[in-house]
Amino acid sequence: MTSITLYGGAGEVGGNKILLEDKSTKVFLDFGTSFGRIRKFYKDPFSLPRGLLDRLIMGILPDLEGIYNPNMLKKIGRKPHQEPLINACILSHSHLDHFGDIGFLDARIPIYSSKETYFAIKAYEDVTRRAEEKQWTYYQESRKVDDWIPIGYYWIDELGKAHKTTKEKATHERVILQFEIPPEEVKRNFVQKSHFQVDDFEVELFPVDHSSFDAQAFIVYTPDAKIAYTGDIRFHGFKTEKSIRFVEEARNADVLITEGTKINEEVNFTEYDVEEKTKEVVKNAEGLVLVDFSPRNLEEFLVYKRVAEETGREFVTSPKNALFLLYRDMRNLIKEKFPRLLSKIFVFEKNASSTRSKRTISKYKEVEVVKDEEIRKNPGNYIVNLSFYEFEKLVDFSPPKGSVLIINNPEPFDEESTLDEERIQNWCNYFGLKNYRIHSSGHMGYSDLVWMIKEIKPKYILPVHSNLSNAIQIKESFGEPVKILKEREKFEIKSGLLNFF
Ligand SMILES: [Zn+2]
Ligand SMILES: [Zn+2]
Repeated sequence: MTSITLYGGAGEVGGNKILLEDKSTKVFLDFGTSFGRIRKFYKDPFSLPRGLLDRLIMGILPDLEGIYNPNMLKKIGRKPHQEPLINACILSHSHLDHFGDIGFLDARIPIYSSKETYFAIKAYEDVTRRAEEKQWTYYQESRKVDDWIPIGYYWIDELGKAHKTTKEKATHERVILQFEIPPEEVKRNFVQKSHFQVDDFEVELFPVDHSSFDAQAFIVYTPDAKIAYTGDIRFHGFKTEKSIRFVEEARNADVLITEGTKINEEVNFTEYDVEEKTKEVVKNAEGLVLVDFSPRNLEEFLVYKRVAEETGREFVTSPKNALFLLYRDMRNLIKEKFPRLLSKIFVFEKNASSTRSKRTISKYKEVEVVKDEEIRKNPGNYIVNLSFYEFEKLVDFSPPKGSVLIINNPEPFDEESTLDEERIQNWCNYFGLKNYRIHSSGHMGYSDLVWMIKEIKPKYILPVHSNLSNAIQIKESFGEPVKILKEREKFEIKSGLLNFF
């Protein structure tokens, strides 16, 4: 008997942790971070949950046996398991709300994903500051006290000054220690495959359209049922035909686990519209053009490169974004999939304080640094990719009045993003920037959901990655087959016959 339990993603957007199991096999579909739960108690970056224990206590991670890193469990005084109780974790794409918590998993649990997702996570990890919760593709064995060895002995005089001495004469507190062997970095067990078997489950990944270039939907065949999972999906971007192919393959699934992020509205503005509208705005723009978007979405990156070419400007990004494209393995993937991205990468000058990334970035032959002074002198020659968190650079660029800011991000959706929106407006007023929001949602709207469900004709529909009111809207549209699962509520599929408990 196969069953499905949501440990994250029930009545919330993101943080998907979908446990699919039968008597011998257990797999997680996604293991993402629930930002809703974190933000309920903490204010990033000033306060954050500390490690595994805080997350378990505060209900940010599910308190389940046999899935977490045994060393982390030991550290928080829990008894670690011998063998992990989960066979695999399968990731849909490289957005944190789908993969962000894998750093807490027992590293013996294999992580399956597409090649694209693996490289995107790896590149993100490489350009992000290291932290325990961000050990996504590698992990470090925790430090044991027995590993320490003394490297120097001291005694303290009456003035409190330290003097080197022998072991026998040393003042205990002044022994300086170091690891005999520094903890070694171990690669997490990532398997890059799109069709595979996990025990008695057969899994197939299908690329789909979403605001992440690597997004995949899954079909899982268990001995009792065909289960389709959309991951995050839409039908109005550059890869719509891929999403349609998934729908065809998912036909007559017993269970469709579907996202419902945006189904409370119609989504009519496509990625093609974004490109057209952007081109029009840039053509008519005077002075500097600034765009705020997530460059980790490589398809969007290409859009701005194309617009720049067609409007006679150069596209300039931040050193950090350039590093994301050029670092190690990501570079090879981009070479293969998006060769145009690597032709020439213009970056603006990094703030004087961070010399490290300046040094790192200048060693790549594709990179050309555009000086602030040059942007000030010839603002009409550039489109600069500047995220809100880098707006201090506006002081260096000093854009002439009438310059343009294009925002390619969703509308503010909560108090915090409304405040940010106000700050953006203040910057615009201060520098006299005209601003435009040109954005296409990463998620399907209502009509596409209806079309998808009518095509697939699933016996049961489980909404995830959707707030409760959207889940209720799906229920009202499709009635009995829709089961709105509460967190930890088990949906059981008996072979041949489907039952809801
Ligand atoms: Zn998501
Ligand atoms: Zn996503």
